[in-house]
Amino acid sequence: MIILGEDSQRMKDKDAQGHNISAARAVAEAVRSTLGPKGMDKMLVSSMGDVTVTNDGVTILQEMDIDNPTASMIVEVAETQEDEAGDGTTTAVALAGELLKNAEDLLEQDIHPTAVIKGFHLASEKAREEIDDLATRVEPDDEELLRKVAETSMTGKGAELNKELLANLIVDAVNGVTVEADDGSHVVDLEYINIETQTGRSAGESELLNGAVIDKDPVHDDMPTDLEDARVLLTNEPIELDETDVDAELQLDSPDQLQAFLDSEEEQLRAKVDAIADSGADVVFCQKGIDDMAQHYLAKKGILAVRRTKKSDIKFLKEVTGASVVSDLDDIDATALGTADISRDDADELFYVEGDDAHGVTLLLRGSTEHVVDELERGIGDALDVVATTVSDGRVLAGGGAIEVELAKRLRDYADGVEGREQLAVEAFADSLELIPRVLADNSGLDAIDTLVDLRAAHADGQEHAGLDVFTGDVVDTYEAGVVEPAHAKEQALSSATEAANLVLKIDDIIAAGDLSTEGEEDEGGAPGGMGGGMGGMGGMGGMM
Ligand code: ADP
Ligand code: MG
Repeated sequence: MIILGEDSQRMKDKDAQGHNISAARAVAEAVRSTLGPKGMDKMLVSSMGDVTVTNDGVTILQEMDIDNPTASMIVEVAETQEDEAGDGTTTAVALAGELLKNAEDLLEQDIHPTAVIKGFHLASEKAREEIDDLATRVEPDDEELLRKVAETSMTGKGAELNKELLANLIVDAVNGVTVEADDGSHVVDLEYINIETQTGRSAGESELLNGAVIDKDPVHDDMPTDLEDARVLLTNEPIELDETDVDAELQLDSPDQLQAFLDSEEEQLRAKVDAIADSGADVVFCQKGIDDMAQHYLAKKGILAVRRTKKSDIKFLKEVTGASVVSDLDDIDATALGTADISRDDADELFYVEGDDAHGVTLLLRGSTEHVVDELERGIGDALDVVATTVSDGRVLAGGGAIEVELAKRLRDYADGVEGREQLAVEAFADSLELIPRVLADNSGLDAIDTLVDLRAAHADGQEHAGLDVFTGDVVDTYEAGVVEPAHAKEQALSSATEAANLVLKIDDIIAAGDLSTEGEEDEGGAPGGMGGGMGGMGGMGGMM
């Protein structure tokens, strides 16, 4: 009996697994070369011709225009990692690919996928336990260590050149929005950190402000731009004539009537401005437009007004100034106003809105061009997340492959006690972890095998923090060397990679309503058995990876 449509396709068992595993591996291989401080960047050109230059795993995958379903599942690993930890996306994806590669070897030895899945699951659980055992505890006031965490996250990224300055800003920013909960744990509210970018100056001139930065001009040249202890009014209503008045049809029989009409319009605007002035406001940030005549009246009253303020800026200004957003300008409650010091940076055409007990800080990132600032922003975003995660989770690990080699060693010991074929899967999991130091070595132009041999020897010798110094090629105590990563991000990377690998391994049947086939396109994109049509976008990038 035929139940599938004419165009649909079906792949079963080994074919299906092979197809899926190749697709997932192709994704992993696409990002591997960016891993670590010596990883290279990728240039991604969208179908619209927009160019992104980045080293960030999740950005690469999101921009790559992947439409193979399995490959998309791996992209989700990166996205989950980004959401949960903010960093470690390349690690998570590379690991998922390696797990599948090693799983494929087991499948070829006729080990059933369920045994592999079970073994991977056991290994992942055990690895999390060991991570907790190996982690060093850190307190929010250990700023020295937190700066190292930020620097480790920035190495290899656009942010690296100014990493000392930026790490300082990041740690200060996070500390500025950290509160201690009743149970002694620390809560970091990243919502209160705003990132603003400015092109034109160098990244080294980036700064942290206690408050907001608003990239807008005053609506009138005669308005004051520097105000201390200013009363701030925020509104999401236009300071314009009410719409009904504008649209209403007008029957005019004499010039007097026209004049009367215009007078009444003027009167209305004047009334709105009077209401604003009467509330005591020195500054108005308006989310909508401000009528020309109202601009003029506001200037006359010495009130600073800014129109078309971004909604997100209004929201942030609420936190910074303590104001609430007024939506009825005819009836302003004076308690809705907030307070701040306002100053103007004429060169950059920015307003600084600062407050003594402002709840919120702004990282003003600078860079010479748009591309530089964009990549800086991604790097800083990751570092902020990582420091925030570290403060709230309170545990760090030695990086540079140290944690992975130690976990691999402990997992091999653990495997000895695991019954049946699952044992082989636990061992395969351990081997997969060692991909990280191998790739770090590879990307640094070092011999991956030699490096791994040295690292294993150091760990066998009890050196838990032995990792790779990618700059010298030596095995060093990476914790001492300041290469430190948050434990939470590593745990997350391990579990999302494992989950994705297991998800792919569970599939034994692919039924596609449309075209799945890669026949005849095998060599496109360089990925055998499964990527051709699915990752068309990669074809042109093959040479770069
Ligand atoms: P991810 O997207 O996974 O965060 P990265 O490109 O940021 O990828 O690389 C992270 C890896 O680089 C981690 O394993 C980290 O320990 C390692 N690393 C970072 N800085 C150094 C360093 N100075 N020396 C050695 N390894 C480093
Ligand atoms: Mg990183």
